[in-house]
Amino acid sequence: MAAPLDASNSRIPAVHPLGSPYVRDQLSMRTTPLNEERVRVDRGYVLYWMQSAQRFEDNWALRLATVEADRLNKPLLVWHDVDRGEAGVSPRFDAFLREGAAELSERAVRLGLAYRFAGDAPQGLTWAAAGAALIVTDQHAVTFTTTRAATLARGAGCRVLMVDSIGLVPVACFAKEEYSPRTLRPRYLRHFEHAMEPVEDRPPKRTIPASVLDALPPAAPLPATSAANTERDARVARGGLRCARQRLQAFVSDGLGSYRLRRANPSDEAGTSRLSAYVRHGMISPREIVARVREAAEPDECAAFVDEAVIWRELAVNFCRFNPSPGSISALPAWSQRTIADHADDVREVTYTLGQLESASTHDALWNATQRELLTTGAMHPVARMLWGKAIVSWAPSCADALSWMLTLNDRHALDGRDAAGFAGIQWCLGKFDRPFAERPVSGLIRSMSLERAHAKYDVAQYVARWSGSETTMA
Ligand SMILES: Cc1cc2nc3c(=O)[nH]c(=O)nc-3n(C[C@H](O)[C@H](O)[C@H](O)COP(=O)(O)OP(=O)(O)OC[C@H]3O[C@@H](n4cnc5c(N)ncnc54)[C@H](O)[C@@H]3O)c2cc1C
Repeated sequence: MAAPLDASNSRIPAVHPLGSPYVRDQLSMRTTPLNEERVRVDRGYVLYWMQSAQRFEDNWALRLATVEADRLNKPLLVWHDVDRGEAGVSPRFDAFLREGAAELSERAVRLGLAYRFAGDAPQGLTWAAAGAALIVTDQHAVTFTTTRAATLARGAGCRVLMVDSIGLVPVACFAKEEYSPRTLRPRYLRHFEHAMEPVEDRPPKRTIPASVLDALPPAAPLPATSAANTERDARVARGGLRCARQRLQAFVSDGLGSYRLRRANPSDEAGTSRLSAYVRHGMISPREIVARVREAAEPDECAAFVDEAVIWRELAVNFCRFNPSPGSISALPAWSQRTIADHADDVREVTYTLGQLESASTHDALWNATQRELLTTGAMHPVARMLWGKAIVSWAPSCADALSWMLTLNDRHALDGRDAAGFAGIQWCLGKFDRPFAERPVSGLIRSMSLERAHAKYDVAQYVARWSGSETTMA
């Protein structure tokens, strides 16, 4: 994953006010109408329905909702709920979302925003939508329009707009599916500096009347933000901007200085940012992460990090945006599909079932350690993740099974799962964004990564020791 991007040139322009031409241009690139309804000036407030951009900063949907609320001289209500498809994926996933919401609830008061967290009670949204002059919501990184947003738009009786805050650069800047980071990079760089320009974040001018808030369905119960939750495993990330910023700061002070070297060592827990779950849930913005890294890092380390944090991530978003089936073998390049077909009948040295893989019951101690890290923490080191996926390709009965099992395991257990970066990373294990390599049994021309060779290539001994214990939990 080479990084020829010079991202260190941190010229800091003036902050753009919300009404500025810069903000108007960004909003016009990022906004998609979801229906043809009109703004209902007879209704009480502008509704920002928060889905995937779970933050108040660098949030383009919230910015549009604020601008529109001021223009219409209405107050703004931020309504945050959890899609039932997301809720209950695992208790750990749910806890992460609620911790984030608890912090938003606390911060909203300080920031002068009317925020209501409705948990996974979707009927409240219909109620909140009925009072809205205009509804603004988030564009999603995988499905772009969620089924719920499309349903709401059909029945809301007012204008519904969807806004892209997914990446640093608007999704609409790219007109087709990019082949690899190599093809995306030059196009991306044309927009990079412009997208880094800072924008004012402020509350709307009018406050919402207490009578409107009192009439809303009650907020869902939230965990206390201040209490150290002693029941939670300390190795599992806690949701919310505060913890995201702590991780970012810890990484900037330690791992960032030699990111290129340390990222290759799975035993080095502090060698990468461990921010992907926060980015996945929109709890911290890519712009904030990149801006902090640019202030602190040497040019080469900065460029290497920025290449992962925005080029690879937004390549994944571009993939899901333009590829009609990002979770299927048909999403792979032609050479990869051909080699998979050519080697479909190759005898696998060993095969495992999905259940054996899920319970980390293979013959290989390193692989079992990767799976245990995932089960215990909901995360996995990036190098371990590549080894994990490549081994599944060689152990599943077919590449189609490997793809489906990787998606199942990743999305069931990873806090950053169910995301465009998951589809992209998993498909990378089958040749996506890559080139053909020397032909081998089973994997054909697809780049292979051997678990045995990993011991010589990366420092994995400590990693295996750390995750070989019996304390695995599947929360
Ligand atoms: C099999 C497999 C499955 C994966 N599943 C996911 C997933 O479900 N969700 C997910 O966010 N990433 C996924 N990745 C990509 C990558 O492994 C993770 O983003 C990374 O492990 C996160 O660790 P970190 O935050 O410490 O990364 P860092 O090295 O600190 O990178 C900084 C940020 O850049 C982004 N990033 C880094 N690498 C990639 C990449 N290759 N593709 C896209 N974005 C990247 C992440 O947002 C990350 O937080 C997967 C990769 C593979 C090989």
